[in-house]
Parts: sequence; C-alpha cells; structure tokens
Amino acid sequence: MAKHEHARVAVIGSGFGGLGAAVRLRREGITDFVVLERADSVGGTWRDNSYPGCACDVPSHLYSFSFAPNPDWPRTFSGQRHIRAYLEHVTDTFGIRPHLRLNHEVLRMEWDADALRWEIETNSGSFSAEVVVSATGPLSDPKIPDIPGLSDFPGKVFHSARWDHDYDLTGKRVAMIGTGASAIQIVPAIQPQVRRLTLFQRTPPWVMPRMDRNITGAERRLHRALPFTATLRRGLLWGIRELQVGAFTKHPGELGLVEKLARANIARAVKDPALRAKLTPSYRIGCKRILLSNTYYPAVAQPNVDVVASGLREVRGSTLVGADGSETEVDAIVFGTGFHVTDMPIAPRVIGADGRSLADVWKDGMESLRGATAAGFPNWMTIIGPNTGLGNSSMILMIESQLNYMADYLRQLNVLGGRTALAARPSAVNAWNRKVQARMERTVWKSGGCESWYLDANGRNTTLWPGTTGEFRRETRQVDLSEYEVIRAPRTAPAAASRPSRTKKEAAK
Ligand code: NAP
Repeated sequence: MAKHEHARVAVIGSGFGGLGAAVRLRREGITDFVVLERADSVGGTWRDNSYPGCACDVPSHLYSFSFAPNPDWPRTFSGQRHIRAYLEHVTDTFGIRPHLRLNHEVLRMEWDADALRWEIETNSGSFSAEVVVSATGPLSDPKIPDIPGLSDFPGKVFHSARWDHDYDLTGKRVAMIGTGASAIQIVPAIQPQVRRLTLFQRTPPWVMPRMDRNITGAERRLHRALPFTATLRRGLLWGIRELQVGAFTKHPGELGLVEKLARANIARAVKDPALRAKLTPSYRIGCKRILLSNTYYPAVAQPNVDVVASGLREVRGSTLVGADGSETEVDAIVFGTGFHVTDMPIAPRVIGADGRSLADVWKDGMESLRGATAAGFPNWMTIIGPNTGLGNSSMILMIESQLNYMADYLRQLNVLGGRTALAARPSAVNAWNRKVQARMERTVWKSGGCESWYLDANGRNTTLWPGTTGEFRRETRQVDLSEYEVIRAPRTAPAAASRPSRTKKEAAK
C-alpha cells in the first residue's frame, strides 16, 4: 500500500525559507511537522547554484538567520560553498533532520473542505496536513528561453543553476546568454579558461564595485568571544540598507549619484569607448538589481571576450544568431537567463477550496495577503510570497518576518480551538494589494525605464516590497483576524487525523 503520513504542518522546500520555518516551528513547540524536499539534500538555491564564482552579494553577517549567527563567516560576501554548509549546519543544530522527507517532490496538493486539511501527493508517497507552508522560493526553477533551433545544437547546453561540473570548458568556444547577477559572476570565473567567450547581452546591467574581503581571524575571535559585536555588525549592515530604501521607493532621482559611481566603475576597467558604450545602461540605476563585481568589467575587456549587444535569436547547428544578425560558432552554451519568478512553479499544483489552482487564480498576476496567504486557499501560506522581495537588502530579514506571521497564524488556530481553518478574505487581499501597488508607482522599478523580472507579463511589480524591512516586520508581526474568515469543521465530521485520506474529488465519485 502507498505510504501516507499526516502532520499538523507540511513545509515545502528546504532552502532558507523552509529551514527557517522548520526551526521556528520547533521553537514554537510544534514538532508534528514534515519538510518535503524534492532534492536529496537541503539548501534550495544555494544547493542548486554551484556555478564557478557563485557567491552572495549581500554581506554574510546580514545574509544569515538572526537566531543562528555564524561568527566564522570567512568573507564579507561568502561563497556558495560556505552558505550551503551554513544551511546544513542549521539543519543539524536545530534538530531538523528527523522532519526532512528528501526526494519528495510535491506533485499536487488539494484542500479538503470537509476534513479541513490539505491532501498532498508527492512522488514518494502521500501526506495530509492541517497547514501548508510553501517555501519553494522564487529562484528555484531555471528559465531557458525558447530559442528556435536550440534542440538541434550539437554542443553542450546548460543553465547557470544546473552547472555541469563534468564538462570541461578549457579551450572551448563558449556563449554566455544573459548578463544578470549569475552571469556577471560566471564570466570572470571562466574567461581565463575558455578559448573564446561570447557574451549575449540583451540589456546591460549596472555594476558597482564589490567591497569584498577576508574576515580576519581577529574579527572572528572577537565575534566568538563577544557575540554582541556580531549583532552590532549585523545591525549596522541592516541600518545602512534601510536608509537606502527611500531612494528606490520614493525618490529615484537620488540614484543619479550612484549612477555616476557606476559609470566610473566601467570607465576604470574598460578603455575601449565602443565597448564602454555597449556596457553602459540607458535606464536608471536600481530599476534592475544593482550588481556588485570588481572582476566583471576587467574580464569583459579581455581579448578573448566578445560582447554581442543583443539577445539570442536563433541557433543554426553550432552557430548562434544574435538578434542583431551576428553569427558566432560555439562549442557550449551557458544560459544565465534567470528563473520562473512571476509564474510561481508550484502554483499549478495547488488546488484551492473551489477546485481552482493557484495558477488559475493568479493568471492575471500573483496576489496575496501580507505576502503570505491567498484568498480561496485556507491554511496555506507561502514564504517569500508576492511582493516580499528586496532590491537592496537581505531576504533573510523578510523570511524572518514571515516566520513571525506563520507562528502567530498557528497560535491563532490554537486559540480558536477544535478543527478550524483561516481563509484570507478577498476584500483584505484586495485592500493589501491596492496599497502595495499604489506605492509601487513611485518606485524606480516602475519608473526607471527598464524591463525586469520584477515585473509580470502585465507590467505589474508582484515581486518586490515597496518599503523598508522594518515596515514589513511591523505589518507581519501578528495575524489580524478581521482579515480572515474562520472556518469550522462540521461537528459530525470524524477527526481529521483518523479519517482515511480522501480528496474532494474522490468524495464526489
Ligand atoms: P536574471 O537576473 O533574471 O538575469 C537574466 C539575464 O538573462 C538578463 O540579463 C536577461 O536580459 C537575460 N536574458 C533573458 N532571456 C534572454 C534572451 N532570450 N536572450 C538574451 N538574454 C536573455 O537571472 P540571474 O542572473 O540568474 O539572477 C536572478 C536573481 O538571482 C538575481 O536578480 C538575484 O536576486 C539572484 N542572484 C543573486 C546572486 C548573488 O547574490 N550574487 C547571484 C545570482 C543570482 P534582460 O535584462 O534583457 O531581461
């Protein structure tokens, strides 16, 4: 018989969001939960992205959990290997391993309105849970554009988030598609090794210097001996970024000064005026994510690198045809073309109270209440949901705010007692989104003159939070019950945990 497990809470994903949720559940005294993870280890995007040069562009003392400080970060901006090891360490330290169900990919989950619980199908057995915390992350499913002829390319093709370490790039002619945060780290890492590197740049990014350095032994000893010094360091890193938010969200004109520094950064490394012109963006800095690198421009200026200042139009055998008509023969194509962000990949697999999928409900754009819950999907919440992303600070701050909300949600369910569920009121969801979108109008992401992955197909920014992280913390401190409908199970229904697993569809048969 197929395996079935019931838990009070099912967390989906074990990246920063999922592991953070797991730790918080245990700290709230909740041990009846599982973490469903499709891969064979934890780490989310920091497990999947192992490309050469992969590192975080948020300082490590801020890009880590406040409840799990790491005095031993080796660099101010640590690399993927160390961040992944940190997440493994968190998993062990907080006793999360027994809750992990690795190699369990969620195929479908459906709300059972009679039993007030979610029925979850995975590729390794079924589960039911009273509450689902979906922490699948916005950077989990790679996006490769549909390029004509790509399937007939005779060479090697892979995405930055699925790096093939068995393929040796030494002496090869390589095309890098895209110039986002991933590509600008990959380019300097592989440029010395490859014969020729052709960079397909559809839109140039703004790249600022990266203040990266080793954290000295003395600093580490100090943070270990006097933990408040690490807290102070984190506080300073946070405070500086909070002060920058207004320029992004209210006064994009102020970013002109930053643009001057970024132009100087190009000029310092790129002496050829034609190349400099190609690399200089024409939109306001901050409209797309500001990238940090000291090595990108120097690498691009090397003689074995060409910049095709256009997208990739077509692949003809081993020849890549740019949107500008240029032709380049290559041995390998690396796509640094980002992720499915505004079309959350789990959404088609989540079936709500009225039988519609979350993807269907969100077909005109993602909308949630306080970045967490969605109308029609009782007791389902997401970590890093709509409009919770940041342009300039650490996502871990936002995740921890969402964990406060999750903890209060579960507390409220306890207080309500019996078998109850909370369903976000459509009016509350609308009110929240109207407020968020009204604030979005003034932001650099909307007015800066660029297209970015922050915007959905309708040009709406459904990904970023248009305020400070402090503001979001206040907005998510507690669940406001007036924003929810309380659903109670009919008295006659048998207890959820003892009922056989039955979805609404099966019940109707
Ligand atoms: P991304 O920022 O979405 O960049 C995708 C790149 O691919 C863009 O340059 C885009 O051009 C280009 N592109 C897309 N389709 C194309 C086509 N058909 N032809 C040519 N170019 C095409 O993806 P990413 O670099 O993987 O980064 C995603 C996010 O991950 C980042 O914004 C960041 O939040 C995070 N990240 C962080 C770090 C870090 O901490 N250092 C590192 C990597 C990633 P357009 O600009 O014209 O759309």
